[in-house]
Amino acid sequence: MTTVSTPTDPTAQPQPSAGGVAPQPVAELRGVEKTYYKPDGSIMVEALKAIDVVINSGEYVAIMGASGSGKSTLMNILGCLDRPTAGQYLLDGVPAESLGDEELSRFRGRKIGFVFQAFNLIPQLTVAQNVEVPLFYQGVDADERRRRSLQKLAMVDLSDRTDHRPRELSGGQQQRVAIARALVTDPVVLMADEPTGNLDSATGNAILDMFGRLHAGGMTILMVTHDDSVAERCERIIRLRDGEVETDRVLRKHHA
Ligand code: ADP
Ligand code: MG
Repeated sequence: MTTVSTPTDPTAQPQPSAGGVAPQPVAELRGVEKTYYKPDGSIMVEALKAIDVVINSGEYVAIMGASGSGKSTLMNILGCLDRPTAGQYLLDGVPAESLGDEELSRFRGRKIGFVFQAFNLIPQLTVAQNVEVPLFYQGVDADERRRRSLQKLAMVDLSDRTDHRPRELSGGQQQRVAIARALVTDPVVLMADEPTGNLDSATGNAILDMFGRLHAGGMTILMVTHDDSVAERCERIIRLRDGEVETDRVLRKHHA
C-alpha cells in the first residue's frame, strides 16, 4: 500500500486531476473540539481536540482508532447528530452552527444517509416501507415514496423481497435494505458505523463490494471500522488517537 502523504502533510486531500475541477468539500471540520463537562463545570473528557479535516466529494474514507479515541464522537458531529463545543463544522458548505436544532435535523435528513452496524430496521414494517421512512419524514407523497423505494431496492438487488419483514431476511439482506434506505433521499454522503460488524466475512465482503460500486458511481462514503482489511478497501484512512488525528493517509486517488 503506497502512502502519498505524511500525517502533517497539508496536501493530504486528493488533488484535482489534471484538467479537472477543484475538489468539492462535502464535510469540513475546522478546529473542531468536543469536550464533555462534569455537572460542576470542570472538564471530564476532551473527546476531540482541534480536528481539521476536509472530506471531498467522491472520497471513500475510513475512520479508525482504538476504543475511546473519539470515532463515535467524530461521526456524531459529521452526521449532525451532535455539535462541536468549539470550532466549525460545514456540511455541503453550510455551517451546522447556523442552523437551529430542527433545521439541522431536516438538513441532516436531506444530506446524509446512515448505515448502522445493527441495521436498525423497523420490524413491523415491510422492506419497502422501511426504505420509504426517510421520505415519509420529508413529506414525499405515497406513490413517489413507493416508486423511489422500489428503485433503490432494485439497486441493492432486493426487488424480490419488498413485501417481506426484516426478520425474514438474512443479515446481509437486512444490511442491503438499510443501504437502500440510506440512499433513498439521494444524500451527498453515506455514513456507516461498522457496517460489516454484525456480518460474517463473506457477507461483509459483499456489502463492501456494494460500497465499492457506490463509490465508483461517485458516492462520498465515510465509514468507521476497527478492521484493517475493511479500511484498506477505502482510499483514505483517518486514524484517531486520544481525540486527535494521528494519521491521515491517502491510499489511492479516486477517479473523478
Ligand atoms: P470511540 O468511538 O473511538 O470508542 P468515543 O467517541 O465514543 O470513542 O469516546 C471518546 C471519549 O469521549 C472517551 O473517553 C469516552 O469515554 C468519552 N465520551 C464519549 N461520550 C461521552 C459522553 N456522553 N459523556 C462523557 N464522556 C463521553
Ligand atoms: Mg464508538
